[in-house]
Amino acid sequence: MRPSLLDPLFAPAATLPGIGPKNAKLFDRMLDRPQGARVVDVLFHLPYATLDRRSRPKIRDAVPGTVVTIQARVVEHRAPQTLRSRAPFKVLVEDDTGDVELVFFLANPEWVRARLPVGATRWISGKLELYDGVRQIVHPDRVMDAEELARLPAVEPVYALTEGLYQRTVARAADGALKRLPSLPEWIPEEALESLKLQGFAEALAAMHRPGAPEDVDPAGSAMTRLAYDELLSNQLALLLVRARMRKALGRAHVAEGTLGRRLEAALPFSLTGAQRQAVEEIRADLRAEKRMIRLLQGDVGSGKTVVALLAMAEVVEAGRQAAMMAPTEVLARQHFDRMAPLADTVGLRMALMTGRDKASKRRETLAALAAGKLDIAVGTHALFQENVVFADLGLAVVDEQHRFGVRQRLALADKGKAVDLLVMTATPIPRSLVLAYFGDMDVSALREKPPGRQPIDTRAMPIERIDEVVAGLSRALGQSARAYWICPLVEESETLDVAAAEDRAEALRSIFGGAVGLVHGRMAGPDKDAAMERFERGETKVLVATTVVEVGVDVSEATIMIVEHAERFGLAQLHQLRGRVGRGAGRSSCLLLYKGPLGETAKARIETLRATEDGFRIAEEDLRLRGEGDVLGARQAGAPGFRFARLDVHGALLARARRGAEAALALSDRLATDEGRALRLLLYLFERDEAAKLLEAG
Ligand code: ADP
Ligand code: MG
Repeated sequence: MRPSLLDPLFAPAATLPGIGPKNAKLFDRMLDRPQGARVVDVLFHLPYATLDRRSRPKIRDAVPGTVVTIQARVVEHRAPQTLRSRAPFKVLVEDDTGDVELVFFLANPEWVRARLPVGATRWISGKLELYDGVRQIVHPDRVMDAEELARLPAVEPVYALTEGLYQRTVARAADGALKRLPSLPEWIPEEALESLKLQGFAEALAAMHRPGAPEDVDPAGSAMTRLAYDELLSNQLALLLVRARMRKALGRAHVAEGTLGRRLEAALPFSLTGAQRQAVEEIRADLRAEKRMIRLLQGDVGSGKTVVALLAMAEVVEAGRQAAMMAPTEVLARQHFDRMAPLADTVGLRMALMTGRDKASKRRETLAALAAGKLDIAVGTHALFQENVVFADLGLAVVDEQHRFGVRQRLALADKGKAVDLLVMTATPIPRSLVLAYFGDMDVSALREKPPGRQPIDTRAMPIERIDEVVAGLSRALGQSARAYWICPLVEESETLDVAAAEDRAEALRSIFGGAVGLVHGRMAGPDKDAAMERFERGETKVLVATTVVEVGVDVSEATIMIVEHAERFGLAQLHQLRGRVGRGAGRSSCLLLYKGPLGETAKARIETLRATEDGFRIAEEDLRLRGEGDVLGARQAGAPGFRFARLDVHGALLARARRGAEAALALSDRLATDEGRALRLLLYLFERDEAAKLLEAG
């Protein structure tokens, strides 16, 4: 259980000053906590910039375009002529070097007169601008007397907001959250603190929320470094604990000759690529050895991971055990099943599909067969993790698209059998530096070579204003029986809007192409989703309008056109994934990125990279360089366990240190039972690695 010392931090954020019943929802939204934000969420919502109010120039010396705080006398009020006039209320102020016009639009004149009585001396803070040669401050941030000035923080934090919230409200809540922070023992040993020049955890948070200088909130600054290190440390600790748990049971050797595998290979309509062959050999070596396999199979979209997984599963089945393959979505689980089942059949492998949507009777049947050992391979979704799923003897679990599975699922899976071997497949070619952070130290097999015969995908970018041309082009292509995906924009604020956009687009395309247009989105009921996918696969629909549900793994080899609307809203890795949905068959494929201009530098660079290469590893590295690691894994979009503070482009070097720190702590006490260890438990809970922390308590 979470130590009670941390309770104040996990109380509702609504208990903080400035958060009332009205804006609590806004905080939930800003902090991305629909279930209700907690104090810790506010505490960890760090400013991304500062407003520096230290500049106190004479008016003559004030630099236009900068934030200044000036001392001036109020000279004159220039109220608009009529009450209904839209003209601003202006106030002229001066010092001995010059004057400034304060400009208030739609202001309450009474308020202005009261705050700035003629003849009074005031401190005024805001952005100075030059307008037609006149110095102006439009809507000064602050109008203060000497007493109020004394209370003005010289440097103010600037937070990411949500509409309806103000900087001051968030700053006040953050300040309140800091006050709730209990005194915590240090979890980093003295030597590490010194060699990494780290400040204390509380000190770092205070420096961020009450910055004394703009450098204090710099990602590479000492406060962020401390917090990033803590986060990486908790992450590595969690990964090591999970790993220790998984390795606790010695692995089992699956003794097989590879006979089934050879028969499967013979039944394939193609021969394996060198990369596939090597991956299969690496996996077989693991499976046959006594050690427990924890292996990552990395391979770009279309590199052919499925058949590698099938061969691995066949090996385990030949050794008399069962295998399971898990996919993140129904659509994908079904597709894996549909692809593999015919092959499995030809060699006598008994395979079943299990998803959350099976009818009760069918499900009972599958469960019974699994428990009795009458099934060799189960393919499914999260449904496979559920408690009532019992395998007769599970030997290998294959998890597709791992980054959507968390530590909890990994553990649940590991508990499904005796020392289950684990093969994790990811379609995102994660740079080496990230493998450790996200997966811990797994062994890695990589498929860098694609199956032969693939044609390059013609990738183009086009402003969305030219959508009519695109539709005309699409019309011609459909006339030649092409099939196309049309991906609709990702709307950041809500899935509902995503769906509405997709529905509108489908409607518009239907008015042109009629029944040839299908639609699939995340809010659809499972069977409807599958039905829409199937119609597209069978060619009954020619254009599939979709939100990003097609991103993960879907394979329709006849589809040769990928249109991405508002491509500028997608991350590079995500665009690469989407593009990977075409170019799978023999036909020449194209990818059209429709963007809404003007493009920022990053968006431009992303589109350029995409045009320049199809090498997923290169794209992943470029993405890391452009945007930080979040995007590489689509973490932001997918809501996968990402990092709050650590950015591997900035703090990457800390990762190995955090790793060693975690190892050292566990070497001292594998149950974290020392003083330092107990402090580290707090860290795990602070960063909500509760699942890992619980491992220390359970057997
Ligand atoms: P991934 O899961 O890595 O994205 P898949 O396993 O879905 O890729 O494979 C993509 C496509 O390539 C499938 O249609 C598959 O049948 C085909 N394929 C796989 N391996 C080969 C190979 N060695 N030669 C030709 N085609 C292959
Ligand atoms: Mg796949």
